[in-house]
Amino acid sequence: MNISYDENNIFAKILRSEIPCNKILENEHTLAFSDINPQAPIHVLVIPKNSYINFYDFTKNASIDEVKFFWKLVNDVIDHLKFEYKGFRLITNSGKDGNQDVPHFHVHVLGGKNLGRMIN
Ligand code: 5GP
Repeated sequence: MNISYDENNIFAKILRSEIPCNKILENEHTLAFSDINPQAPIHVLVIPKNSYINFYDFTKNASIDEVKFFWKLVNDVIDHLKFEYKGFRLITNSGKDGNQDVPHFHVHVLGGKNLGRMIN
């Protein structure tokens, strides 16, 4: 099934500066900002600046540079938050079964306490 990118999703609006965000870091292809409804003491979202629906779409269709810059920014966020030794969790929800709410690819970076087991 082919689904098309929804230009009106909330992260597209953030990227167009139509709504604000608390920016943490960015690079040429990627933006990191605080989640509005944190699920841990620290909860950052990392998104590509171009339009990709989910992890599958991103890894299938993004350029090598976009993929490289994306994971580099995730790494920079981990450095910025000093999570290297304390630990953290990366999550990417995808589609209906993954309960993805915002249909623009994003990785959640969660930490700041022991996060417990992965799935209840
Ligand atoms: P998903 O369920 O799609 O994996 O996660 C979407 C995330 O986006 C949620 O954690 C939610 O709190 C966050 N979110 C939704 N709307 C906004 C917004 O307007 N600003 C920010 N910074 N985060 C948002």
